[in-house]
Amino acid sequence: MLDIQKIRADFPILSQTVNGKPLVYFDNGATSQKPQVVIDAEVKYYNEINANIHRGVHTLSQLATDAYEVARGKVKDHINAKHAHEVLFTSGTTHGINLVANGFASILKPGDEVVVSSLEHHSNIVPWQMLCEKTGAVLKVIPIDDNGELIIAEFDKLLSDKTKIVTVNHISNALGVINPIKYIIDKAHSFGAAVLIDGAQAVPHLKPNVQELDCDFYAFSGHKMCGPTGTGILYGKEEWLNKLPPYQGGGEMIKEVTFEKTTYADLPHKFEAGTPNIAGGIVLGTAIDYLNEIGFDKIHEYENELLEHATKRLNEIEGIRIYGNTKNKASVVSFNIDGIHPYDVGSIIDKLGIAVRTGHHCAQPIMNFFCIPGTIRASFSFYNTKEEIDQMVEAVKKAQTMLS
Ligand code: PMP
Repeated sequence: MLDIQKIRADFPILSQTVNGKPLVYFDNGATSQKPQVVIDAEVKYYNEINANIHRGVHTLSQLATDAYEVARGKVKDHINAKHAHEVLFTSGTTHGINLVANGFASILKPGDEVVVSSLEHHSNIVPWQMLCEKTGAVLKVIPIDDNGELIIAEFDKLLSDKTKIVTVNHISNALGVINPIKYIIDKAHSFGAAVLIDGAQAVPHLKPNVQELDCDFYAFSGHKMCGPTGTGILYGKEEWLNKLPPYQGGGEMIKEVTFEKTTYADLPHKFEAGTPNIAGGIVLGTAIDYLNEIGFDKIHEYENELLEHATKRLNEIEGIRIYGNTKNKASVVSFNIDGIHPYDVGSIIDKLGIAVRTGHHCAQPIMNFFCIPGTIRASFSFYNTKEEIDQMVEAVKKAQTMLS
């Protein structure tokens, strides 16, 4: 059992009022809140060891370098990568996906195929469209059904020896649906295709095991898992990272530079040009420690209780439609109320201190599929409570009365 009140006390932002009401923060899908240990670690870095890494012989530079590499090791252990050099620091999921899509420009030929799904965030659609435009490859899309689940029989039909990469999210940000990624990875591999998993929405809820999954790439953001913004990780299998060309050129990523020819650094530095978010990378390690101390099994169990409670309570509201009707869901409820624009509900409940996201959630194809402008999305974290969910339900009911 989690001691939620003790956990909440770790998050200073949760005790404030917004619009005169106690904050109920249900926009965790957009970004999570940060515990005091994470905030303190960021301050400690700048107070005590701030220096550029991998370059200086001086003590601070070595301390900062060591702390950065310790954080890389923590991520390696957390996701069970085989090697620390398969763990690349990025600025976030978007950066990781663009890095891989850019690299595939040197691999794809006209007529090759890239498979994405209808459930993707724009950041796992647009880079692949850009890649297809550049290379003459063709984008294929796995459709979804009315429950918001991927139609796996259609995925099977899309695969052929033309398929070079399949890229899907682990958990949908817009609906919370958990995708059958192990099946997708194995099936794609049987056709010789590489697989990238967008784990942005998965890492706050579970601990991915990249070796067991056998994915070729796994991208995620630090800020959705209690870490700082502007941090992220791209895991890539060593053989793939060796095969792909560098994404950006600059300092740090070279072995030797002459005007005739430049040779590139070994992994992971080949993909880490320029001065990174050093404090952010180190503090992402602190965030991972914090989450592991709580325990992902407990987080998962408690968040499922929140999801169940929210689904049951929201279903009391007349005219509600919840999108993503499946048992395979993370703690996200995406819904609309008959005849009312999601933005209007979001604005009214904000006045009551409740922070939800409204809109297309950077997943316009899903909204087009359901023929809606957007949804109201409440996304829960382990520091939320059932009482907060009850407050949201009462606030939504109030908004419905005002707007009908
Ligand atoms: N993919 C998914 C599923 C997401 O939810 C997000 C963030 N909303 C992203 C990718 C992009 O993450 P970032 O903006 O941190 O790069």
